[in-house]
Amino acid sequence: MNVLVINCGSSSLKYQLIDSTTESVLAKGLCERIGIDGAFTYQPAGKDKIRTEVEMPDHTVAIQTVIDALSKGENAVIRSLDEIGAVGHRVVHGGEKFSSSTRIDDQVIAAITECNELAPLHNPANLIGIDACRKLMPNVPMVAVFDTAFHQTMPRKAFLYGLPYEYYEKYGVRRYGFHGTSHSFVSKRAIEALHLDPEHSKVIVCHLGNGSSVSAVLNGKSVDTSMGLTPLEGLIMGTRSGDMDPAIMEFIAHKEDLTIDEVMTVLNKKSGVQGLSGVSSDFRDLDAAKKEGNERARDAIDVFAYRVAKYIGAYAAAMNGVDAVIFTAGVGENDAAVRELICENLTFLGCRLDKEANQVHGEEKVISTADSAVTAMVIPTNEELAIARETVALL
Ligand code: ADP
Repeated sequence: MNVLVINCGSSSLKYQLIDSTTESVLAKGLCERIGIDGAFTYQPAGKDKIRTEVEMPDHTVAIQTVIDALSKGENAVIRSLDEIGAVGHRVVHGGEKFSSSTRIDDQVIAAITECNELAPLHNPANLIGIDACRKLMPNVPMVAVFDTAFHQTMPRKAFLYGLPYEYYEKYGVRRYGFHGTSHSFVSKRAIEALHLDPEHSKVIVCHLGNGSSVSAVLNGKSVDTSMGLTPLEGLIMGTRSGDMDPAIMEFIAHKEDLTIDEVMTVLNKKSGVQGLSGVSSDFRDLDAAKKEGNERARDAIDVFAYRVAKYIGAYAAAMNGVDAVIFTAGVGENDAAVRELICENLTFLGCRLDKEANQVHGEEKVISTADSAVTAMVIPTNEELAIARETVALL
């Protein structure tokens, strides 16, 4: 079956058409500037990316553009819409309502809508994508795969904040965690690849990308994760602050004469390694600047790696041990220098990095020595494939 995987944002939409039998990508691409003017990228398997300017006044037109590219013209990969067997939608927030993926119907849409408050930037956009697909493909089954679902197994001691309990009861203020599809995919693969006993395994997954989070996966289930009510908590990220003294908000608001919304913009968009370095949110730029002697870029990398190492230590304590530490996503899969910095602080766990093996980029590989007590490993994530698998499994 071919599964169309959709990751819909407010003005952009990423898509992949995956043949679930061979698990190969038939075509993928991106609709950008939806509702503004429109730019369309399409890449059929084995061919170059094609970029065109296409008017995309709304998401329905964007999805129609995707369907047309997939099924018409010399670069088509299917003959008609009938060859799309299912659609898998990435949905950011499922609150406490969804602890697993689910087939989409009117009730599910109503329940996702109730979670909008928890992710006002993401969930409404995800719903627009679902709505557009249902209009254009009314007979095709659709599945929602939630970023938060994998972390719904966290115990209360891990998800409750030290705040008045009524905020949890009234508003659902608690830790939810994100990147669940990636943490689930990567931890499952780690258990399989390292032949760990699924019922007795302790895995820490470091998803280090533009947005970054760490999770503690005990016996295949998430028992803690670094992102919280929103994706702002936890690690230092590309442009997000991660953990900090909450009193800083008031302090900066006074000093800089900012509203709460403006402070939130600073914390989400102008902080992290970008804010620290003043160079870039991209680790390739930071690594280059550090090599040229830029001290703030070096600081930013140090602060980032130190925070990751601290979380690994914390999660080893949370699980009372750890079998494997896994690195994934853009930085985790590619940045050997950052992995080395992180692993320098893990020798207390008996984790020994094999510096030569660590030179790996974007490939599955053990990067610790044969005598290391804890295995360190790179496992590339593949959220689209994970969504396609979930979709097929549910149908
Ligand atoms: P997103 O959170 O947007 O999905 P990704 O997981 O794709 O992010 O990670 C993107 C980030 O990965 C880039 O911003 C960059 O910092 C980092 N990255 C990608 N390739 C490399 C590389 N070769 N070396 C170091 N960092 C890299």
